[in-house]
Amino acid sequence: MKSNKSNRCPVCNGYKSMSETTFTVDLGFGVVVVRHVPAEVCEQCGAEWLDDVTSKNLEQIVQNARSSHSMVEISEYQPSPKSKLAS
Ligand SMILES: [Zn+2]
Repeated sequence: MKSNKSNRCPVCNGYKSMSETTFTVDLGFGVVVVRHVPAEVCEQCGAEWLDDVTSKNLEQIVQNARSSHSMVEISEYQPSPKSKLAS
């Protein structure tokens, strides 16, 4: 099944292109910042879309930050993070 793979922005109907963004989450006790996240960005209004894989990876980073309770967590986005869980 193909999801909506249109190259048009649903907000303003401008064109989207692959770019990078900075992902920020406020966890209450601290913030997580992930830099160089690949995203589709609308050239016209600046709206951003992350794909499923990217969102999953970001979720993982946020969970790690949550469990380590760091006040400020700044990461570089890695497409395939090395699993430190399995040792
Ligand atoms: Zn737009």
